[in-house]
Amino acid sequence: MVYDLVIIGAGPAGLAAGLYASRARLNTLIIEKESEGGQIKTTDEVANYPGSIRDASGPTLIERMVEQVDEFGAKRVLDEILEVDFSGKIKVLKGTKEEYKAKAVVIATGAVPRPIGCPGEKELTGRGVSYCATCDAAFFEDLEVYVVGGGDSAVEEAIYLTKFARKVTIIHRRDELRAAKSIQEKAFNNEKIEFMWDSVVTELKGDGILESMVVKNVKTGEEREIFADEDDGTFGVFVFIGFNPATKLFEGIIEMENGYIKTDEDMRTNIPGVFAAGDNRVKSLRQVVTATADGAIAAVQAEKYINDNFED
Ligand code: NAP
Repeated sequence: MVYDLVIIGAGPAGLAAGLYASRARLNTLIIEKESEGGQIKTTDEVANYPGSIRDASGPTLIERMVEQVDEFGAKRVLDEILEVDFSGKIKVLKGTKEEYKAKAVVIATGAVPRPIGCPGEKELTGRGVSYCATCDAAFFEDLEVYVVGGGDSAVEEAIYLTKFARKVTIIHRRDELRAAKSIQEKAFNNEKIEFMWDSVVTELKGDGILESMVVKNVKTGEEREIFADEDDGTFGVFVFIGFNPATKLFEGIIEMENGYIKTDEDMRTNIPGVFAAGDNRVKSLRQVVTATADGAIAAVQAEKYINDNFED
């Protein structure tokens, strides 16, 4: 069968596109490779999405978005798209489970956490190294935790981690945070949070579990190894140093800039019938509010494209 619209990704952008498309009575399929929600699902507090005041966690917001999409009849499947063929009028997407065909496509694949890229990081992920405080904070109850990064994510998640950890140290490569001033103030006023300025993690070590890490002072060049407290045996390192766009699948197929998909203000890519929405595209503000707006615009434009290019 040929769907009117296939949406790749079920984060806020994909779910908003699904909502608008299904309300417009497009036969819509949303394909997600892991579970609905994208990055926002890993956030404990969503304080700046209009209307999210009470009970505003990432998971609850996503739960409501999914419920709304289901209510209007968009179909959802779990599958990973491995290959796309956008050369014809009908777009073909090959997944691990099935092949999907559509008159139009919205790419809402979002972005994935950027790794430090140091030795030991891969091996110790899930064994002391984490990229999601909401998912893993409880494992570090009463232990020491280090947060790498200085942006909104790092500082907000460090504050969240103080609810669990004995002490939280933010390791930042400069001597000034990038995070919004209001978030910084909360962190500076939190007795459990300490700062390690001008520092980067150069190695993570441990035999099956994180036991020590090497931190380098970028100003002096001095390196020192920090060991887990003997009684604890381990500690946590939470990495929040930004995100990389999840666009590898479209390299050489769609026009991009530094790995981000280029679109016009109506979310059109350089390929007719293929739209992009959310954190994977070139834009100035990557937030839930802009992702959902992108998704809505992409769906409305996809409907227009289908009406203009296909007979009933
Ligand atoms: P971000 O704003 O890009 O900040 C990344 C941080 O990591 C920066 O402090 C950066 O240092 C540091 N960094 C980058 N690469 C590094 C490396 N290789 N080694 C060590 N440190 C490195 O990322 P984010 O905090 O995840 O935020 C992403 C977007 O989401 C932003 O637009 C942010 O405003 C938004 N966000 C908003 C909220 C909110 O509004 N409540 C919450 C979370 C995220 P430098 O400062 O030196 O560049």
